Amino acid sequence: MEETREHYLAWLRDAHAMEEQALTMMRGMRSRLENYPDLSARIDRHIAETEGQAEDLRRLLEGQDTGSSVMKDAMARMTATGQALSGMFVGDEVVKGSMASYTFEHMEIAAYKVLIAAAKQLGETGAVAVFERILVQEQDMADWLFDHLDQTTQIFLARDEANLQAKR
Ligand code: MG
Ligand code: FE
Repeated sequence: MEETREHYLAWLRDAHAMEEQALTMMRGMRSRLENYPDLSARIDRHIAETEGQAEDLRRLLEGQDTGSSVMKDAMARMTATGQALSGMFVGDEVVKGSMASYTFEHMEIAAYKVLIAAAKQLGETGAVAVFERILVQEQDMADWLFDHLDQTTQIFLARDEANLQAKR
């Protein structure tokens, strides 16, 4: 069981770093969006949810952890900042950002599926409940992005054809 716990803790730290990265990416994208009110509102909601997720994971880590996640989180933040900045220089950043967000939500969904299985193995029922609650939020966000990718693309194309600012 010692190996199982080590894997579990490593995956928990990874998930916390992932949520910090999610916050950096979403805040960067949200701060630039001007012409996509539905997308902006949904990102605002998911930022608030993600802040709660990061806090819940931090609390789980504090209850368990022996090592430090500070370095890994710092690395993830730098990567996310780079990705957020690089989005500023593409002419279709709202489309690229929607695609990247949809992909990121699925990375999160996979991460929580793994954490749920490991936490169940360890009998960590409180943690399982936390991960299952987060998993629903990630799935809802992924579903919303999927359902609105066509709308976002249509708005982008219509604005660009009309020579209006479209990319954000
Ligand atoms: Mg998340
Ligand atoms: Fe998410």
